[in-house]
Amino acid sequence: MNPRIMVVEDEEALALLLRYNLEAEGYEVETIDRGDEAEIRLAEQVPDLLLLDWMLPGLSGIELCRRLRQRRETARLPVILLTARGEESERVRGLTTGADDYVVKPFSVPELMARIKAMLRRANPESLSSQLKAGDIDLDRESHRAYRNGRELKLGPTEFRLLEFFLASPGRVFSREQLLDGVWGRDVYVDERTVDVHVGRLRKVINRGRERDPIRTVRGAGYALDDKFIN
Ligand code: CA
Repeated sequence: MNPRIMVVEDEEALALLLRYNLEAEGYEVETIDRGDEAEIRLAEQVPDLLLLDWMLPGLSGIELCRRLRQRRETARLPVILLTARGEESERVRGLTTGADDYVVKPFSVPELMARIKAMLRRANPESLSSQLKAGDIDLDRESHRAYRNGRELKLGPTEFRLLEFFLASPGRVFSREQLLDGVWGRDVYVDERTVDVHVGRLRKVINRGRERDPIRTVRGAGYALDDKFIN
């Protein structure tokens, strides 16, 4: 699945330029032009990376970033701050507010793209690892085996891929459509209810007895590996 990037930028021409270049790199892009609206949207869905302008109507990028760091779901969200201010003291302020990187306008688009790529790689090494783990669940991609609390899970191939998909992005909410694309593949036509059936089967195998259900059903949105379960 393609990484999702949220762009919060009130300069329309710049937002368009960023969208165009990010989409050309294969990212899924959402643009928002107000800080307060971005905060609401981020409470619903967390992207893989946030490009955040400093000066925004509604809520400043700095304040939004500070608030994001206080929430568990977004505490580790990679954030690149975009700003016209270039003074050293302002840079320091940006980074201590919790941004991971800082880009001064006008910036070079290829350089920004390179920084985004590097940051996504750093943020998600799990996507490359053969061992995935969350809570008491372990999955080994090479041997194609999964365990809960040491007990081997007898999963069908679809349930295995579903679990692998959830473990690669713990806490992230996936819509049924995203799960279909990621687990079944874009070219296969499967009804969205099929997802519910397989999530049900996966739950049955991993939650034996009174074990806690690690899969969260998010009403109106989809499913996630519960972030309360992860730590
Ligand atoms: Ca601005």
